[in-house]
Amino acid sequence: MSKQKPNFDAERTEGERQAAWERRGDFEAPRPAAGQARVYVKPSSPFTSGNLHMGHVRDYSIGDAYARFRRARGDAVLLGFGFDAFGLPAELAAIERQEPPADWVAQCGERMLGQMKRLGFSFDYDRVFYSSDESQYRWSQWLFLTLLEADLIYRDDATVDWCDTCQTTLASIQVEDGRCWRCHNEVRLIRRPTWFLRITPYLEENDRNTEELENWDDLALATQRYILGRSDGVELDLEGDGGLLTVFSPHRAAAGLASFVLLSPRHPDVDAWIADSAVREELEQMRSGGWDRSARDARSVPVFDSGASVAGPGGEQLPVLISPLVDARFGPTAALGIPAVDEADRDLAARVERVPTFAGDEGEGEDGERAVAPVAGAREAKRYRANDFSISRQRSWGTPIPVVYCEECGAVPVPEAELPVVLPRDIRPTGEGNPLAERPDFVDVACPECGAAAKRETDTLDCHFDALWLWVPAAVPPADRAELMFEHPDLKEWLPAERLVAGGDSGGFVFDQRIVTKALRDIGPFAFMAEGEPFAGCLFHEMVIADGRKMSKHLGNVVNPDELVEQYGADTVRLAILYAAGPAKTLNWSDGALRFANRFLRNLWTYSQDRFAALEETPHDEEAAADTEFMRDRLRKWCENGLARITDDVEQLQMHKAVRNVTRLFERIQDFEKRVVGRRGQLDRADAEAQVAALLLLAQALAPFAPHTAEDLLLGSGRFEDAYLPASWPDSAAIPVAAGTPSASA
Ligand SMILES: [Zn+2]
Ligand SMILES: [Zn+2]
Repeated sequence: MSKQKPNFDAERTEGERQAAWERRGDFEAPRPAAGQARVYVKPSSPFTSGNLHMGHVRDYSIGDAYARFRRARGDAVLLGFGFDAFGLPAELAAIERQEPPADWVAQCGERMLGQMKRLGFSFDYDRVFYSSDESQYRWSQWLFLTLLEADLIYRDDATVDWCDTCQTTLASIQVEDGRCWRCHNEVRLIRRPTWFLRITPYLEENDRNTEELENWDDLALATQRYILGRSDGVELDLEGDGGLLTVFSPHRAAAGLASFVLLSPRHPDVDAWIADSAVREELEQMRSGGWDRSARDARSVPVFDSGASVAGPGGEQLPVLISPLVDARFGPTAALGIPAVDEADRDLAARVERVPTFAGDEGEGEDGERAVAPVAGAREAKRYRANDFSISRQRSWGTPIPVVYCEECGAVPVPEAELPVVLPRDIRPTGEGNPLAERPDFVDVACPECGAAAKRETDTLDCHFDALWLWVPAAVPPADRAELMFEHPDLKEWLPAERLVAGGDSGGFVFDQRIVTKALRDIGPFAFMAEGEPFAGCLFHEMVIADGRKMSKHLGNVVNPDELVEQYGADTVRLAILYAAGPAKTLNWSDGALRFANRFLRNLWTYSQDRFAALEETPHDEEAAADTEFMRDRLRKWCENGLARITDDVEQLQMHKAVRNVTRLFERIQDFEKRVVGRRGQLDRADAEAQVAALLLLAQALAPFAPHTAEDLLLGSGRFEDAYLPASWPDSAAIPVAAGTPSASA
């Protein structure tokens, strides 16, 4: 094929390739064939914030490379995507722009999807969803009702920040130095009824499973352990003024040295330990005092003396103190205070009169001199810091909670047949009041039980609740979603997801997704996931920063992916972000990686095109070919080793290593040519054939990372046809070594 010597042109190539992908429908999740591996890759679900940031580009570049690799290996791949579209970020942006959040979300989604397509990410775009769509939040409501029915959701009082001027509750990020973000007046804490998700029944199983999760990287596992906050130790039963109290201590050997007991204000039996009405008053104050956002430091955390005592392990009387510090360490339990070995206990003891002052400094920990023999009756025990959390917010941009309040019947769940409870799309929050509560068309309703006039719940679900199941919808065909979701038969094909790829700050989401999977397994729909684990594998990556600092508009160091793509092309940006750092490392962005990636792609492209063009004219000579056979053999071995390494790296999602090995293999292929030329003065046709085969192998191995350039190279060789791309994962046996008459095609 004779053609004018072309140049590497990212914009042309990428436009052509993306059009071809769309034409071929490459990324539609296939119906898996019998025996075919099913691979559901789940990247993070972004907020509809308006723009992709570099952290997203990192996330999707990793997930996309893995998805492309698995497709090339012949597996059925679903690379699903959806937006976490409800919640405060969209609501605040809409307030600022004075438009309905629904409009803002639609604009953002369109724009972000455009950016993702321009970067060549191979999502099944037909399956994209928004958590704020009726067909989606209908199922958030279903999930709420299902968990409510199973007693995993309950209503209790919680402390929230309240602005008297704006007549609204505030999220913690809306409180700046104790003042309202909007009017700058002081906020106060109020108690109000709030919906909670009960996670405690599944903590132990989450803990147990964490030890057995394969294909979870260290960072992801570390977040799960951190959130769980497990402490191992002993517990014993102590008799006292309030009855029998089971107390925990992480200090096994030092339990006999306890000088007080610390009780959580949320301990189920706390009331039994308070006789005095003044003390009861103090407890009420602590409960409504907003200790949730108070310092967790033992020197400043609220603490008071209940006045009650228990008989300690040695028979001595131990004062019972009440403080949320115990929650922050061990959950809502009771714990021994042992100043001799525990610094926090020492700080706390110093603040309470009835606790004897601890004078010694010999407390060196469990193995210190003061350690005494284990206390009789002490049992092995553990505690978890993780606890139930509130899932409702007094905001208008969220999933309406399907509950109606009736004077006669109380809180009545909306019957499933009446879902969805529709959120008015034209709501325009101003930051003042609760716009939902001010809409009679939303609020006034007949009680589902008795038919009397009743009021809808005007709190909405926190977007954290929507996120509990954001990994599910992509596995269900869009046309079915309004009717069938959690019991859709396709879920059995795709779940659990083979890989989750998410930012290092997603640990909380993932933890709670694991809990809800177990709940739905026990309730029924997810019974097919016996382990109750939504993700068979999980990779967390750190964020992308610039100049050693987090990117922010304020610092003026935000790197805009659009500008980079415009200047260098998508493949360069993808390759650079993968190459620059391993996933567990924070990526300090620099143009160095960009220039490296761009130079590599240009060199590879030009070099390969030149070799493809020269192949036909390269003469063949039996003797010359025989003389260099050992070199071709070595080339094949280099390819074999390089490919094995790249394969291994991609399987473990260590894309930085894979890219490095791709670049090294290119160096080897160039080296092969230099050595042959050094020996014989020029390549024989057999050498050129082997080299072209090696370059094609390299292009195939490059395809997960820089798919546009890779496909363009394969097409440029004249040995691949557009209709049969993307190519399968290569095999080093394709490198011809024998000195016989070379064939025209590899
Ligand atoms: Zn205010
Ligand atoms: Zn009623």
